[in-house]
Amino acid sequence: EKESNGAAENGMKRPQIKFTQLFINGSFVDSISGKKFETRDPRTGEVLVSVAEGDKADVDLAVAAARQAFDHGKWPRMSGYDRARIMMRFADLVEEHLDELAELECLDAGKLLFLTKIIDLDTAIRTLRYYAGAADKIHGETLKMSSEMHGYTLKEPIGVVGHIIPWNFPTIMFFTKVAPALAAGCTMVVKPAEQTPLTALYYAYLAHKAGIPEGVINVITGFGTTAGAAIASHMDIDMVSFTGSTAVGRLIMEAAAKSNLKSVSLELGGKSPLIIFDDTDVDKAVDIARDATFFNKGEACIAASRIFVQEGIYGQFVEKLAENMKSWVVGDPFDPRVNQGPQVDEAQYQKILQYIEHGKREGATLLTGGRPCGKRGYYIEPTVFTDVKDDMLIAKDEIFGPVMSVMKFKTMEEAIERANDTKYGLAAGIVTKDINTVNRLTRSIRAGLIWVNCYMQMDVDCPFGGFKMSGHGKDSGLDALYKYMHVKSVVMPIYNSPW
Ligand code: ADP
Repeated sequence: EKESNGAAENGMKRPQIKFTQLFINGSFVDSISGKKFETRDPRTGEVLVSVAEGDKADVDLAVAAARQAFDHGKWPRMSGYDRARIMMRFADLVEEHLDELAELECLDAGKLLFLTKIIDLDTAIRTLRYYAGAADKIHGETLKMSSEMHGYTLKEPIGVVGHIIPWNFPTIMFFTKVAPALAAGCTMVVKPAEQTPLTALYYAYLAHKAGIPEGVINVITGFGTTAGAAIASHMDIDMVSFTGSTAVGRLIMEAAAKSNLKSVSLELGGKSPLIIFDDTDVDKAVDIARDATFFNKGEACIAASRIFVQEGIYGQFVEKLAENMKSWVVGDPFDPRVNQGPQVDEAQYQKILQYIEHGKREGATLLTGGRPCGKRGYYIEPTVFTDVKDDMLIAKDEIFGPVMSVMKFKTMEEAIERANDTKYGLAAGIVTKDINTVNRLTRSIRAGLIWVNCYMQMDVDCPFGGFKMSGHGKDSGLDALYKYMHVKSVVMPIYNSPW
């Protein structure tokens, strides 16, 4: 308690903000309307800077640039090798500016600086290099057809892509979407979240500097219901790749269906279970559960927000968790001693506090936290509810904040059934020493990513995306590269060509 938020009071770091305009066709420009919106420092709630507010008219310009670059420009026509070289340069430039970019990201999103460097920026650079490495290895297949006909497939870039990204991992999301699309030879319009517009603009500048041609990457900062909706319903965009809430994912799919039936890839919400069995080391299980829930202040679609603990160790687990959480520090994300920074904005902060009040009213036991903390900014105590029942709101809704729900279970069958009893299917975790339990659960749980005796471990190579209402289509891995490509079949006679 004493430590909480103390660090926010001293040495408030504020990196310089260089880019605040839209990036269209290789230049920074104001929005057509001239409108701007404010982005705030989540540590204080104070305005950091005003950023150009792009709207439908600006999206139209950006799409026209991307269309021109796709239909007539060099990027899709270049060899994969040449695209790779430019993408490698882009990666080097991100690496050269790593410290500054990490600071900018933290300032805008309230993320921990030291982790942003080693996780977010590192992932960005790796992602660019991974897909650069794949750019010259794209090929189709030879088809058997028949004794008279043969055929082959071509893999072609899908066209102009709209990327709509959220605010919890602005950098990782930018590169997870942009890098495979670039490698595929697509051109694109990126809309960062209105809460965190700053780093995407910087990346547009670095892409340009690296030699990515005009019109290939355009960045429109602005709001979801205006700029985002204009992308989703645009007649000249061939695909939209979205990460965000399930509610907005539904709107995007509707808009795609109502406009030009563009292809849609959705990475949406989750309510991921972490199932801890009796046979495990309780201290290790507590560490895994803590990080699985509170990493990035719970602002992670993959956060484990339902912790199922088998009855034999339930009491011990709860006791050790309470003890463990005493050393968890909330405060200024620039301070390396801090574990948890502020929530991204006022709206999220209020929403999380409402869920916490709900949990209290529904009769869950409040083990730790449960209140806002600090004198200013969007800080919330890490909150653990125990004795949570499956039908409580806190066990069903995605809270997207530092709130853990701990539940007791008896048998493996029961754990599987309850873990799957959700509309989501993004991720899940299993903690056990029993290989049979592992094999049974990995095959029974309906989720796109399952961690065993760990949680949140990710790699660029690991396809990422959910089942059920967590969406469809994969980010990361080669699956993501192929998502941005069409397969075209070519068929011809083997003998007796007509001439
Ligand atoms: P959250 O609820 O976590 O803020 P959202 O799904 O609302 O997540 O936001 C994710 C991204 O989707 C943001 O870039 C946001 O601006 C955008 N967005 C929000 N509403 C719409 C919409 N109606 N159409 C297109 N994009 C939208």
